[in-house]
Amino acid sequence: MTHANQMHLPGQPHMAYRDGALWVEQVALSELARQYGTPLFVYSQAAIIAALADYQAGLAGRRARICYAMKANPALGVIRILAAAGCGFDIVSGGELQRVVAAGGQASTVIFSGVGKTRAEMRMALEAGIACFNVESEAELDVLNEVALSTGLRAPVSIRVNPNVDPQTHPYISTGLKGNKFGIAHERALATYQRAASMAGLRVVGVDCHIGSQITQEAPYMDAMDRMLDLVEAIEAAGIPITHIDFGGGLGINYNGERPPSAASLWPKLLEKLDARGFGAHQLLLEPGRSLVGNAGVCVTEVLYLKPGETKNFCIVDAAMNDLPRPALYQAYHAIVPLRPRSQAATVWEVVGPVCESGDWLGHERALALSSGDLLAVLSAGAYCMSMASNYNSRGRAAEVLVSGSSARLIRSRETIDDQLRCELRALGD
Ligand SMILES: *Cc1c(COP(=O)(O)O)cnc(C)c1O
Repeated sequence: MTHANQMHLPGQPHMAYRDGALWVEQVALSELARQYGTPLFVYSQAAIIAALADYQAGLAGRRARICYAMKANPALGVIRILAAAGCGFDIVSGGELQRVVAAGGQASTVIFSGVGKTRAEMRMALEAGIACFNVESEAELDVLNEVALSTGLRAPVSIRVNPNVDPQTHPYISTGLKGNKFGIAHERALATYQRAASMAGLRVVGVDCHIGSQITQEAPYMDAMDRMLDLVEAIEAAGIPITHIDFGGGLGINYNGERPPSAASLWPKLLEKLDARGFGAHQLLLEPGRSLVGNAGVCVTEVLYLKPGETKNFCIVDAAMNDLPRPALYQAYHAIVPLRPRSQAATVWEVVGPVCESGDWLGHERALALSSGDLLAVLSAGAYCMSMASNYNSRGRAAEVLVSGSSARLIRSRETIDDQLRCELRALGD
């Protein structure tokens, strides 16, 4: 379908204004808000598939596996389409493994990251037959070895190494520097691999790193690649063969005019380095999260009250920090646009939610022409929004809809008070 009067939003290729209203693919957002209420998360299936295709293009002709870091958005409806498109999964808990299985995904495509895996989670993942454990400390190596020996299975392992490169991102989402809790120091890596290789319950299969998140430049990846290849060289020289090299995730998206490299342009450059150093035959694993789903989603919210003031004007909307915690948590910027732009002059607003915290804001100093009852879309809300949602203030979590072409499907119903009270009433015996 083509529309004469159509305007695309920067960084949101599957969203556009048509005849003065905002659409996702072939569905008007206001229609979804009417049908399902607000706050409402809406995801474009075409945007997710296009983001995955961008990685697949960058890795074309290679032995590579893309393992979606599902903590970015673990909705079963999202996992299902990624699994069907050939994606594996990077999990950080037993619950995430159970989600992959519940969505019909294969445990054999799963890799398990995270600094605090419990014995029970290790056992579950071993018995399910996951592809690899990304081990984050020497202590974890010992425990995984014990658990594997007690189950009579051999655990496939990579060790997450801290390449100590600065991803030049927000300190809370930079993970590959020396002061982080993640991974083990590059200097300790070889000795740790030698220990791992000597443990009867373990089978060394790869090396792993993940340097941070919302990375918008090429340089940190290029530096990390060099550091990791130095290590693979040393490990293999010590007689421990390495099957795969896992490069983690971290590629950024466009929230506010950032211009991260596309996966399709970044990976050929990194693969060139891999080839030049003689490691081109190794399997490559990637763990993208945000870059697969972040720009595919929006959160639709209704303006409840306008509260103009002497120093600040507050626009109070029905979405809050419990729905979309990134602004409160990281001072993150999300663009906020009206579903139907008005022609009046704009006023500058603090866009805030109903939660009883001064930190409950979605946008500072946003120029918008508004009336109460208007609908707004918080953009780039596909990653680390709903997945970080909570019940703070006893607010039920939002509903989620997946759009594909002209069809829209509810993939998570709005949480009810019964959903919220269930664990307590069960415990109280009421
Ligand atoms: C969060 C995480 C990712 C994904 O990061 P993005 O920035 O969302 O791509 C990948 N690997 C590990 C180990 C992670 O913790």
